[in-house]
Amino acid sequence: MKKVHVAVIVAAVVLAGGVSFGTYSGHGQSQNQKNDSTVKAAVTVTALARSNEETAASNFRGAAARNATLQNELEWTFGGKQQRGWRLYDSLIASTLKTSSEPISSDFALTLSNWQKKAGLNPNGVLDEDTFKTMVAEWQRNRLKDRAYAQPNGLITAPTSDFYDSERLPELRQVERNTYLAYKRMVEAAIADPSLNLRHTGEGQLAPEEKYFKIVSAFRSREYQNQLRRQSPNAGSAGLAVNSPHSTGRALDFYVGGDPVDTNDSNRAIQVKTPLYQWLVRNAGRFGFRPYFYEPWHWEYIK
Ligand SMILES: [Zn+2]
Repeated sequence: MKKVHVAVIVAAVVLAGGVSFGTYSGHGQSQNQKNDSTVKAAVTVTALARSNEETAASNFRGAAARNATLQNELEWTFGGKQQRGWRLYDSLIASTLKTSSEPISSDFALTLSNWQKKAGLNPNGVLDEDTFKTMVAEWQRNRLKDRAYAQPNGLITAPTSDFYDSERLPELRQVERNTYLAYKRMVEAAIADPSLNLRHTGEGQLAPEEKYFKIVSAFRSREYQNQLRRQSPNAGSAGLAVNSPHSTGRALDFYVGGDPVDTNDSNRAIQVKTPLYQWLVRNAGRFGFRPYFYEPWHWEYIK
């Protein structure tokens, strides 16, 4: 904050001396400004406020430069796996910070510093390991808390037309009732958004040839989950966890692009850029769905 002080003092000194401060305000204040003290005080306050704003943003130029590097290079671990950078989470980060500024801009760093302040972190505007881990912890906290196994009478069997695999067996098409209704409302809203250009039927359903937003995986029984684990014992994926949110019937994997459920960075890089994924980040919350940050396709109904 030292720089802010210096700039403010310089601006104040310049103003007190009656010298033009056109270079500071940039708004063409005249050199013939009358030496009326009221006018001068008002002008001084405005000029200082403006100068403060500009200085605040410029103070974060260094942070922005750090963020440009860390976006691709921050070393962190998740699920025992080495991770690199946070660029795959740009959309989630922007949504958390409620900003549309580019992650490498001074504005972004300034907004981040305010978030850091609230989170009790060093408000330096740099998305470093501490800050990123705090953000991930917030995302994880917002997920489904009740992991109780689905009640059989709480499950419905959705039609094949809702599924990515149009030949998916009935026992693999079960979804918790309210989750399913919320999904259908969400699909309706997505179809109504012309920017997504989802192919659909006259009845407001996704068209058979449309892949986006179809369900890849819904309720998974204990038996099916065990079978998946036997097939790939070293998967180590959260999706194959013993206590999977999929066993609640409230977790849905949607097709959001690329290879449906592949966690490779290169695949996720494709998925997080699709219009549907970005739409989900902005809108799914309205329908009661929360993301699992690491898997762009995995959403949980938390109501
Ligand atoms: Zn999933």
